[in-house]
Amino acid sequence: MNMQNLLEDIAGAVQSQLGQGQVADYIPQLATVDPYCFGISVATRDGEVYSAGDARTAFSIQSISKVFALALVLALDGEDIWKRVFREPSGNPFNSLIQLESEGGIPRNPFINAGAIVVTDRLLSMTGDAAGAVRGLMREETGNAGIDVDPRVAGSELGNSHRNASLAHFLASCGNLENPVEDVLDSYVKQCALAMSCEDLALATRFLASNGLRTDGTRLLSPAQTKRINAVMLTCGTYDAAGEFAYRVGLPGKSGVGGGIVAVVPDKCAISVWSPGLGRSGNSVAGVAALDEFTTRTGWSVF
Ligand code: GLU
Repeated sequence: MNMQNLLEDIAGAVQSQLGQGQVADYIPQLATVDPYCFGISVATRDGEVYSAGDARTAFSIQSISKVFALALVLALDGEDIWKRVFREPSGNPFNSLIQLESEGGIPRNPFINAGAIVVTDRLLSMTGDAAGAVRGLMREETGNAGIDVDPRVAGSELGNSHRNASLAHFLASCGNLENPVEDVLDSYVKQCALAMSCEDLALATRFLASNGLRTDGTRLLSPAQTKRINAVMLTCGTYDAAGEFAYRVGLPGKSGVGGGIVAVVPDKCAISVWSPGLGRSGNSVAGVAALDEFTTRTGWSVF
């Protein structure tokens, strides 16, 4: 298989889907992005990178950052986080308040907002700078020291964060927050506002395709921890459409409202796609179509 040709074919095949769906606008700065962008990158376990389309254009990674915050917390603190966050699909929107109350302030999983806020809280306690820790991991795994928080996106979200503030205050009222709400929210919006390209994200995600080994050969996660993060991505990583994503793509994946998705082929490669138009469940329309095409044509799926 010629990977470069395959990615170019896929970029051509999804052209008709570009511009479909809606660009997220509840964070006003995200609405300024060109809906016709599309990029795809594959980073293999042994460090080769293949790309097509707008794969070097930085975009807002948003919820994709939740995977990296969780990986750091597991690496630094072991399994204790699972006393504060469950790992079941929620069946509710990513920013829903309802379930959190009926389940006593323990979020359903680390990839809905409530769960990610708890993970970021723990990372803040452990490092003093949660967003800085996530940014550091991204820079080290990619070798790109230019990766940074986009302050316009962070400011835009912080100015419109009543929903996440409600979740955080509710968590605090249940004793499931260690730091002041304002500090946790500040860290959370900054980690979500990291700007990265498909190439950066594919490289940064490679440890999940390498049994937890980092680019420099040191270990971030044990093979068992890596398996578990991939499992939670498969069941909870793509909003309320994780079933549909598994059906179409057949890989662990995590999406974000910036239109990016990362997916993992264990022992082979990490894939990142980006196109800003989101379907009803919040996943990139062209991004899911590209990943569907990729796994259907390569046969690289966990099923
Ligand atoms: N920062 C976004 C929020 O909390 C992330 C949402 C997402 O990408 O799912 O609303």
